[in-house]
Amino acid sequence: MSSLVPAREPAILPGSTIGILGSGQLGRMLALAARSLGYRVHVFSPEADAPAASVSDKEFVASYQDLEAIRSFARGVDVVTFEFENISSEATSTAAQHVPVRPSGSVLSITQNRLREKGFLQSRGFPVTPFRPVHCLDDLKRAAADLGLPCVMKTANFGYDGKGQFKLLNEAELEPAWDSISGAPAIYERFVPFAKEISVIGARTADGHFEAFPVFENTHTRHILDISVAPARVDATVERDARHLAEQILDALGVVGVLTVEMFLTSDNRILINELAPRVHNSGHLTLDACITSQFEQQVRAVCGLPLGSTTLLRPAAMSNLLGDLWENGEPDWVAALENPAVKLHLYGKREARSGRKMGHLTATGSTASEAVHRVVEARARLSDASQGNRLRSRT
Ligand code: AMP
Repeated sequence: MSSLVPAREPAILPGSTIGILGSGQLGRMLALAARSLGYRVHVFSPEADAPAASVSDKEFVASYQDLEAIRSFARGVDVVTFEFENISSEATSTAAQHVPVRPSGSVLSITQNRLREKGFLQSRGFPVTPFRPVHCLDDLKRAAADLGLPCVMKTANFGYDGKGQFKLLNEAELEPAWDSISGAPAIYERFVPFAKEISVIGARTADGHFEAFPVFENTHTRHILDISVAPARVDATVERDARHLAEQILDALGVVGVLTVEMFLTSDNRILINELAPRVHNSGHLTLDACITSQFEQQVRAVCGLPLGSTTLLRPAAMSNLLGDLWENGEPDWVAALENPAVKLHLYGKREARSGRKMGHLTATGSTASEAVHRVVEARARLSDASQGNRLRSRT
């Protein structure tokens, strides 16, 4: 073998046990993929009876700060991975004393803080949204003067789905916004009038092999992902450049596992990186029904050192999230939504439907991306369209 080709590390083979930190819907779909490859799965999270627990072999219920619990969890598995990234470096280094932690704690530490993440990307020359760190009201005012308004101010830590985020339109809004985050470190980003939001989910093995899924085109409602579609309706150069950027980022971070790059695409086809997530991603759920390998199987393969699977998209597909709001008038009409045989239903087994809570998703395939979107939107509308539901029931 050439000295330039890194030796393949011994694989963690089916029959071994994968430990997942976090036990929500991502953990559930990851556990299902791991089980279908013949792995055992242990999950760890502070929540009992969480979505991943019912499809796993063992559930650890403890705080992520409980290092003794992390230690006994790590001792019982062959590799630790994540579905949730806000885990302390103490917890990841405790687990790493016993088994490989993939991606590593250092990747998590960068991506769980927006200032570290943007700083890292900028220092490596990746294109990011113009930003400034904010540690006091004066920083915020200076950032507004430097970068201009409108802006999006985000707390540096614990941000996802628009949590801890404010769009500020004018100077009068700066001080109240700063007061509302009670002095937490924050980032000031220039508001990007993007043409589209896209994401790339990449996987990298310990020996540096890389695969990216096709680019996903995403639309958000109330800051929460609403619809994802593939192939993204973008130029071939954008598709190529976005996937190439993802490869460079996973390499730069030395990721072993899966990492998602969320990007803005401007009207003149410039790509700006918005955010990284060191894990599978909501925008990749359609891979379950439309790609040779799902993002969840790919994470298992990457963290276990198996060869990566093909990311080929078999058919254009679209995914729509099902939020708790759909339960407002009772149980949604599943029969009506599944009337179209190209539509697939995924529910996460959450008992309580709350507004904004991700309860499940629908995927539809089609002969074009636009047809897939049309089908999935129509199927979701049927879920809460009582007249349609009644019509169907009266037929049976
Ligand atoms: P984030 O939590 O950073 O992924 O942001 C959630 C959503 O808010 C993004 O998907 C965008 O729709 C929107 N958003 C975040 N940052 C910006 C920005 N700098 N300019 C415009 N929209 C943004």
